[in-house]
Amino acid sequence: KGSYKVVIVGGGSAGATVASHYVRKLGPGQVAVIEPSHQHYYQPLWTLVGGGFKGIDESRRPMSDVLPAGADWIPASVSEFLPSDNRVSTSDGRTYEYDYLVVATGMQAKWGRVKGLPEALGDGAVVSNMSPRTAPMTYTAVRALRSGHALFTMPKGVVKCPGAAHKACYISEDHLRRAGRRPDVAVTLALAGDKIFGVPRYAATISALVADRGIDVRLNTNLVEVRGPQKEAVFEVLGQAGQAVGERVMKYDMLHVTPPQGPLDVVARSQLANEGGWVATDPETMQHTRYPNVFGIGDCAAVPTSKTAAAAAAQFLVLRDNLDSLMAGGGADGARYDGYSSCPLVTKRGACMMMEFGYGGKIMETFTPLGVVDQSKEDYLMWLVKTEALPWAYWNLMTKGYVPWGEYKNALKRLEAKPAAAAAPAAQ
Ligand code: FAD
Repeated sequence: KGSYKVVIVGGGSAGATVASHYVRKLGPGQVAVIEPSHQHYYQPLWTLVGGGFKGIDESRRPMSDVLPAGADWIPASVSEFLPSDNRVSTSDGRTYEYDYLVVATGMQAKWGRVKGLPEALGDGAVVSNMSPRTAPMTYTAVRALRSGHALFTMPKGVVKCPGAAHKACYISEDHLRRAGRRPDVAVTLALAGDKIFGVPRYAATISALVADRGIDVRLNTNLVEVRGPQKEAVFEVLGQAGQAVGERVMKYDMLHVTPPQGPLDVVARSQLANEGGWVATDPETMQHTRYPNVFGIGDCAAVPTSKTAAAAAAQFLVLRDNLDSLMAGGGADGARYDGYSSCPLVTKRGACMMMEFGYGGKIMETFTPLGVVDQSKEDYLMWLVKTEALPWAYWNLMTKGYVPWGEYKNALKRLEAKPAAAAAPAAQ
């Protein structure tokens, strides 16, 4: 079959969630998911894999089990988007037509942008939580490290889960501490950005944490080369405008790299892309800015928030309401995305700071207003949420097309908006 009511490109966190909803709404045979990978990954678990708390197998399920039974799964890559003709082509030479297109292709790591990194990665010292092949290596390297220098890097530009580089550093440092080896290992976190974290409320806690634990943080320090055989990392030091103003070389015994990242080439060269190569998506409605029957969601979408699965879940509720309305002949702007994203910052075994924020760094915490925890602090309950509740909710709710926590937050927002709306006529 070559024609569908809804075609979803990408069956990752966002795509699977959207597919489940539309199969339920439209019935079998109406929805196709074009997705080349036979494995579906819950990537947020890789942080815990690198920390030795979970196995990589727990992050992986067969794609056929995760995608809804009523969707036609097309195991191929989209090679071209033809939005003016409502068609996409795939790598196996086929073409699929759609009434509505949802683009959920995620983003890609650009390992080759750091000279020498592809060769050094996996040599025992150079590791990364950012791929399923290399995430287990982080824990192996930390366990093997007896003395010297453990170095953690964060690149320039947009990355998925901006907290991931921090988590790798803090969890590894905690392991060294618990193993009694911390006095013999210096720990450095080299960040390309000029702030330790973008949201001031959480940056304050992180600054106190690194000071307390003796982690040397270098800002404006961007990894450009790895000399694997010499165990040297070469950084450019960035000036105020982000330009290189100098070079710094650091020796390492263990190097955890968060690689530069960007949109997929197939998206960047398509008519769907904005100037940065991302899917040109309205940041509030999730609708494409030029093709009304196209929506973007998740990491591939040009929305200025932190790229996380939590953000994709919140975006799904907006996309669902607006696309449902469009299908029914209405407008596609009834629901509005506020930029909600969440990053559970695991700081050590048994502790996590649950960061939740939206556009402009607006704090959008769930538990703090209930008086349960202070989300600007490390907390054991939040560790349980990160390690147990969220993985469960991902497999059993989100990828099945249900985001009850998002519905709850939206209901609260509506309640808060009501008194203001009711008060408005009286004020006139
Ligand atoms: P993905 O889940 O990456 O899915 C994209 C899909 O598109 C893939 O299945 C891919 O195979 C497919 N695809 C690629 N190319 C094509 C093509 N040409 N045609 C068709 N399909 C294609 N998020 C959180 O919420 N909390 C966290 O704590 C957190 N921690 C993280 C830690 C790490 C180490 C990493 C790597 C990520 C973390 N994230 C976290 C981010 C989260 O995993 C992503 O934001 C989320 O997976 C985005 O979903 P997506 O569907 O947009 O992309």
